[in-house]
Amino acid sequence: MKSILQDYEEQRECFYCTCKSNLQDHHVFGAANRKLSEKYGLKVLLCMKHHTGQIEGVHGQNKALRLELKKMAQREFEKLYGHEKYMKIFGKNYL
Ligand SMILES: [Zn+2]
Ligand SMILES: [Zn+2]
Repeated sequence: MKSILQDYEEQRECFYCTCKSNLQDHHVFGAANRKLSEKYGLKVLLCMKHHTGQIEGVHGQNKALRLELKKMAQREFEKLYGHEKYMKIFGKNYL
């Protein structure tokens, strides 16, 4: 599924800092929900620093960005499918 959060063709850049190098796919809801993130297009491009970087990365210590992306993904998902379906699938409210 294409991302519903970012147009990968028009915005081929880090979702956060807009730099264009070392881009990686980040699935907003990871672990057990990674497949669901893929299925519903809840993913963004992040540069390596903001993806796996130890300090600034969402898989590192950047909890604020990690949470911000989840809020946004929930909002966009709910615009399309509603809150009830969101809760049924992902089970955790971030808003
Ligand atoms: Zn970045
Ligand atoms: Zn990731």
